[in-house]
Amino acid sequence: MPERIYNFSPGPGTLPQEVLTQAAKDIVNFNDKGISLIELSHRSKEFMAVYAEAEADIRELLEVPDNFKILFLQGGASSQFAMVPMNLLGGSKKGTYLNTGSWAKKAIKEANIIASSQVAYSAEDSAFNHVPVDADYTVDADSEYLYFVSNNTIYGTQFREFPKSDKMLICDMSSDIMSRAIDFSKFGLIFAGAQKNMGPAGCTIVIIRDDLLDRAPETVPTMLRYKTHADKDSMFNTPPCFAMYCVGLVCKWLKANGGVAGMAKRNEEKAAILYDMIDSTSFYRGHAKEGSRSLMNVTFNLPTPELEAEFVKQGTEQGLDGLKGHRSIGGCRASIYNAFPRQGVVDLVEFMKKFAKENS
Ligand SMILES: *Cc1c(COP(=O)(O)O)cnc(C)c1O
Repeated sequence: MPERIYNFSPGPGTLPQEVLTQAAKDIVNFNDKGISLIELSHRSKEFMAVYAEAEADIRELLEVPDNFKILFLQGGASSQFAMVPMNLLGGSKKGTYLNTGSWAKKAIKEANIIASSQVAYSAEDSAFNHVPVDADYTVDADSEYLYFVSNNTIYGTQFREFPKSDKMLICDMSSDIMSRAIDFSKFGLIFAGAQKNMGPAGCTIVIIRDDLLDRAPETVPTMLRYKTHADKDSMFNTPPCFAMYCVGLVCKWLKANGGVAGMAKRNEEKAAILYDMIDSTSFYRGHAKEGSRSLMNVTFNLPTPELEAEFVKQGTEQGLDGLKGHRSIGGCRASIYNAFPRQGVVDLVEFMKKFAKENS
């Protein structure tokens, strides 16, 4: 087996080698204390320090203001599709949604179970190949919030600029959190499953403005109320200890590698290598429209599904793993999250050139 392949998987995604090496050590003997990281009580002084550092590092990296709480929850990003409307709507209130792909659609479905939604824009008719600009839609005056998915993991589209609205923004940032700066003054809540750009599966980060904590109707169960977790510093029940610890390690890695601004620059460069390649030939066709192209998930097609299957197969054989597109759109997808090395993108482009030449 090779030492390490290039992992283009959309999620769980690639993590920094340094993080994996450190985690492997601590999982056997945490800080030379003779106890495994995953055996530590979440109320122990050692784990409380892990929590406090991870919280502080996320706050520092994203410049989260003091009036926002950072929560470490379970249930995946998908649980947030319901928790957001449960906590922020209720009664006859409604939220406005931008339908830019599968994850947005799932969130809309949950909103309609709990309260109601206005779908102000849908890109479904064009195979979700773009995200809207502000002029493309109008938000109902009586809506509580504007909900959007900053990066559409499956379709490879991204809001390169966040929507501007007089409503507070709610955002699913599962696949691009920590890839660029966020102006929190525009946001009420953001959330992200850790497993794309921030750590292993099992932990969902929620960053919520503290005045929103008291909005949940009485009927919302204890575990599903943000306030429950905010009041207890994410220790109301056993939190996802191992995933939180890994998120903390990833934050340390981010800080040592230029922080969010450093990542944003690197991500631009990495994605440009790949998009330039796609634009230089007619053999490969990008799925996302220019202006909506994701820096995290690059989606493209080859002339036929047979060639796509062969491309994915040969890629895997050469240590370029996980290039198959999502089953809902087919084609190919290269996920190049923060921790994905530049050299892997360069190697992919070399392989693409060779493959196009041999199969044109
Ligand atoms: C992966 C993903 C989700 C779902 O995350 P789970 O943690 O598996 O529930 C939601 N939104 C986006 C944008 C994603 O990429």
